[in-house]
Amino acid sequence: MHDRRTFLAGTAATIMGGSLVSSATAAEGRFAIALHGGAGTEPEKMTADERKAMEASLGKALDVGLEILQKKGSSLDAVEQVIRALENDPLYNAGRGACFNHVGKHELDASIMDGSNKACGAVAVVRTVRNPITLARLVMTKTRHVLLIGDGAEAFADEMQVPRVENSYFSTDFQRKKWEEAKAREKAKQADTTKKMGTVGCVALDVNGNLAAGTSTGGITNKRWGRIGDSPIIGAGNYADNSTVAISCTGTGEEFIRHSIAHEVAVRVGYKGETLPAAVDHVLRKILKPDDGGLIAVSKTGEIVMDFTTDGMARAAADSTGKREIKLGR
Ligand code: ASP
Repeated sequence: MHDRRTFLAGTAATIMGGSLVSSATAAEGRFAIALHGGAGTEPEKMTADERKAMEASLGKALDVGLEILQKKGSSLDAVEQVIRALENDPLYNAGRGACFNHVGKHELDASIMDGSNKACGAVAVVRTVRNPITLARLVMTKTRHVLLIGDGAEAFADEMQVPRVENSYFSTDFQRKKWEEAKAREKAKQADTTKKMGTVGCVALDVNGNLAAGTSTGGITNKRWGRIGDSPIIGAGNYADNSTVAISCTGTGEEFIRHSIAHEVAVRVGYKGETLPAAVDHVLRKILKPDDGGLIAVSKTGEIVMDFTTDGMARAAADSTGKREIKLGR
């Protein structure tokens, strides 16, 4: 016979209006996914063809994740595969298409988190790993550590037989031009107006109620070599906890680190009982400064929020109710 207390604990059941309602049952079959391609997208400065190409790319990546979730796959698999697709697409500042640092090289950061057990893995300052998100996941599952950087991360990639490439594999003409413009501004002692653009991230809820989040980036154009942003820092640019939300951020990484932004959203929802839109609004508009960036979040009930204070944020979302959205600007 089923022990009633075990059942209550195991399904996080609650008594509502005298009847037993299992939250697991209430959310059964529910899944949701959101992804971003970076804050700082300026749709009004893009040609119609460029906008179409980016929307098509976002839609394709979304479908990769949707297919996994529809087949009752895990949110972790959906997040990793969506981010791999975005890393392989030169349109984004992650994987191929990553920005150039001050010395003309690419140094990549990524992280992933499993909301079911707070397991997480991250890599930073990797120069030759084709898909940093996959290496981050292996740090999570195959080591007792959370964050590996530089040469140590690359030696680990070899151990795990994760494909490595020449650093020049990541270069694109678009990012080279942005780097040259940034260097010219630096020489002329002008303010750095380089738009943060193209970091990628994904958050998902699967049919088993598990949340996951992942983020991957080349960082910011003309950054000092060795600089690490928020994307591989758990609690700053990435966070997931089954009891609240999964979050992936994009924007000026230093600010997201200073204010532990991803964790701040989760605790506002968890401890303060704020709604997810209110918590996100607070961190973006009361804690961060205008134009600092944006984030995507999905809650344990499948609520999706995608918000930003920049001109745009490439983004897409879908869920089991049939919702589907792909947008670049407001
Ligand atoms: N947050 C990233 C970083 O600071 C950049 C971005 O999202 O555009 O490395």
